[in-house]
Amino acid sequence: MFRSWRIGRIFGVPTELHWSFLLVPLAILVYSYETGIGLRWSQVQWWSSVTILLFGFVLVHELGHALTARWCGVHAQKIILFPLGGGALIPHEPKRVSQEVLIYAAGPLANVLLALLALPVLLYQPGGGYLIRYYLNPTGNLIVLPTLTEQLLGITFAVNAVLAIGNLLPAYPLDGGRILRALLKRPIGDRRATVVATLLGILIGVALIGFSWHLGDPVLSLSALFIVSFSAIELNRGWQRRQLQRTELADVLRPVSAERIYATDSVARARALFAKTDARVLPVYDNWNQLSGFVEREVLRQEARRDESLAPYYEAEYITGTADDSLLELTERIVAADVYGAAIYRADAVVGFVFTEDVIVLLDRSPRRFYKRFTSPVSPSPGA
Ligand SMILES: [Zn+2]
Repeated sequence: MFRSWRIGRIFGVPTELHWSFLLVPLAILVYSYETGIGLRWSQVQWWSSVTILLFGFVLVHELGHALTARWCGVHAQKIILFPLGGGALIPHEPKRVSQEVLIYAAGPLANVLLALLALPVLLYQPGGGYLIRYYLNPTGNLIVLPTLTEQLLGITFAVNAVLAIGNLLPAYPLDGGRILRALLKRPIGDRRATVVATLLGILIGVALIGFSWHLGDPVLSLSALFIVSFSAIELNRGWQRRQLQRTELADVLRPVSAERIYATDSVARARALFAKTDARVLPVYDNWNQLSGFVEREVLRQEARRDESLAPYYEAEYITGTADDSLLELTERIVAADVYGAAIYRADAVVGFVFTEDVIVLLDRSPRRFYKRFTSPVSPSPGA
């Protein structure tokens, strides 16, 4: 979709920076600028160090997911870092529920570990108790200015605690929401588990937007907005697949018609046949009445001249299915093969055709929305 740059392999897991990461140095410059004074280099250094530290925590979180996936025998494709967090791309869902729970829990657990490592060192500092209270509630007052080491330790403790707790909220697409979905799969089924986790995602996301307004925190608002939109997309994707599961293949099957378009026909003749039907795609035959491929109404309307031959305008590739196939499974194959549709066979004869265009009409949505939902991969765990 959008570019990202490979920065290397960490423990063998390819790691990439998303293009929007370019906004991070920009944000550091904005934060370090003071009207009247200009750019303060000490602030640039401070915010750069803090940023590197924060992304170190996010990276540890994602490595928690990726390395646990690998340990469970599940392929971890890559880690991508975004300005507001990261994602570990795990394209195939693990077979066992326990593995899924373990993989999603490993990210927050890695942060708990980091927080627990920083805690005793922080407590060992003079006035450690005060420092911890301050970092858990930064709006409070601090009487003594902490040293650089104390500040870094405090940030390590507080940020990792927030990352662990925040990601364990039972809201899809956060780790907590995914764990909840995995646990609910067996008792109430895949689809209902997704509905519960995504609805909670929308509810908790909206609540977080309100909370972030109260705090005046734009980063939290943006993260909450992501949670709401990811949940809405996943909910919608589930609805689309459910509709296709419920529909019989026969409902969108276009029967073989007596009037046929031949590969040797002119564009004008093909257009004349399209004028007699509401079909957006029609089959094209060779002179022995064997199926040659499919042609689309829009392509002929926009790109072809009337007196031309049809030959350059039809697509010779298609897939085949049987009348007993499930519509969802067949649509998955059509979309994966990137073709107009499928020829449906019974015994050795073609009995009709299923076109994606008809499936899109059945779902009553725009082609762009259809493909966006249908091809969205098992999404990476965003947030952090
Ligand atoms: Zn995570």
